[in-house]
Amino acid sequence: MRRKLVAGNWKMHGLRAQLPEVEAIAAAAAAAPAVDVALCVPFTLIHPAAQVAGGLPIGAQDLHEADQGAHTGCISAPMLVEEGATLTIVGHSERRGDQHETSHDAYMKAAAAHRHGLGVILCCGELEAERAAGRAERIVQSQIEKSLPDDADPSWLTLAYEPRWAIGTGKTPTPDEIASMHAILRAKLRMMIGEAKADGMRILYGGSGAGGNAAHILALDNVDGALVGGASLTAEKFIPIIEGAASVS
Ligand code: PEP
Repeated sequence: MRRKLVAGNWKMHGLRAQLPEVEAIAAAAAAAPAVDVALCVPFTLIHPAAQVAGGLPIGAQDLHEADQGAHTGCISAPMLVEEGATLTIVGHSERRGDQHETSHDAYMKAAAAHRHGLGVILCCGELEAERAAGRAERIVQSQIEKSLPDDADPSWLTLAYEPRWAIGTGKTPTPDEIASMHAILRAKLRMMIGEAKADGMRILYGGSGAGGNAAHILALDNVDGALVGGASLTAEKFIPIIEGAASVS
């Protein structure tokens, strides 16, 4: 039985003035024990958020594959751990788009995070033109082939299917398209890491998730939670998604 995970991604949003939102989200998470909740905040908020979050896991949104070195402006897994992070996103579409990161980069970053005990949310997803060309499945399968860590295991790894055209746009795939891609990902995982591990691994949906569509999407087969950007920035918008997950758990 896979517990639902609702993870927020604050992207480049949030100052200390927003810490009361973290506290309110943590309180809502504590009131929904059937669901796992996490919040991935900007690097600068990891330490202060971890201090007010109670049991709510606080994560990062990216990291460098090396533990230290001459990499100006980057941050490493040991640094994240020292600040209080317990997980990180890797391979997010905005990293792939803005920073030209590849699936191999995501593979290296996931390994670095795991070496230091961080949980990982590994993202994949096609562009709109790739879907229009009928290539969505192949693109996503290839991303997983290139980025899935060698020792992938549900105890520390979660996948997130995030069609890149759905992120921050208000557009979402149809329920059939989401269910179909999640089934493809499950089958791919089974081939790569065997049935037992594949069936235990959570596959989140991400892309314009909000209170209004959350419960419906989260009830789909093989949808084990949500990675939520814009709607995770305030407790007011994020709590209905947590409640939606609880209602289908
Ligand atoms: C995301 O950034 O992972 C995401 C899903 O963003 P949004 O919910 O804003 O589309």
